[in-house]
Amino acid sequence: MDALRDMRRQVLESLVDDQTGCLKDDLAEDVPCYLCEAKDHEEELFFRDGFRFVRCKRCGLIYINPRVKDQVIPSLYNDERYNFMARELLLKSAKYRQERLYRERLRYIAAYRPTPGTLLEVGSANGHFLDSARALGWNVTGVEINRFGCEYARDALGLDNIHNCDLLDANFPSEAFDVVVMWDVLEHLPRPMATLCEVWRVLKLGGMVFIYVPNFDSVEVLFLSVHAPFFQGELHILYFTPATLQKMVEKASFVTRHQETHGLDVEKILSVFGEEAWKVFGMYHTEARQFVKANINELQNVINRAGRGNNLRLFAEKPVE
Ligand SMILES: [Zn+2]
Repeated sequence: MDALRDMRRQVLESLVDDQTGCLKDDLAEDVPCYLCEAKDHEEELFFRDGFRFVRCKRCGLIYINPRVKDQVIPSLYNDERYNFMARELLLKSAKYRQERLYRERLRYIAAYRPTPGTLLEVGSANGHFLDSARALGWNVTGVEINRFGCEYARDALGLDNIHNCDLLDANFPSEAFDVVVMWDVLEHLPRPMATLCEVWRVLKLGGMVFIYVPNFDSVEVLFLSVHAPFFQGELHILYFTPATLQKMVEKASFVTRHQETHGLDVEKILSVFGEEAWKVFGMYHTEARQFVKANINELQNVINRAGRGNNLRLFAEKPVE
């Protein structure tokens, strides 16, 4: 996607000081650890595209520090690049995502909550997941800070309960929802703990939250290192492992019911390096390449079972007692 790469380059030029190669001082904000609130207890892991990736030495959470400051963040979700993603990429892949991804996610939800009730999606994008959930009988609500996504969900999909704001500004009544979903959202949020506590407040007793985030402990990161495509410090400001995601969710009073990883690590590695990937794998022989290609699903299954898939999933409950 050359167009998207060019748009990202423009975003980075506006954020990163070309003298220092770091985030511009007037756009930067130093933050304590989002999980344990420690200050100055971080170790630097690496720099990428002007962003400094650190790990908290106390709790292990990985995050960007300094990060883009609060006042600038909403503009990143309404700029030319984000609107291009919403209009071009998400709309064109909507049917595929509804059939391949959302159907599976709704099956997961049904495994825990077989009777449809009220469902809130935090970060509802163009509304296609909510559209799929509504078709199964769920009474759906979304919050989304991208304006185009909200307008599309309302006008093209006829979804009435879409709020163009952050969850923390939506002021939903307490105990309003049976289920909250956050698909690839938590890693974007400058107030993740406050958001999870708000999810807890708006869930009914016995309600469940379903969370997907990228997995820092994945085979994708193991092989691609700093070249992993999800290392985009302007948008992804937190990087979870199975352990740190569980700690954060449980700090917000939830009880974890299920955690797994599932991914497309092998395909992602091959797509980033192309033919070079074979050298990364040390696969110079034709038969070795054929073996990987012929067994890509089985290899991924091994990765998933080892907890090293690049998509980390956690389902948690607001317990009745
Ligand atoms: Zn910490």
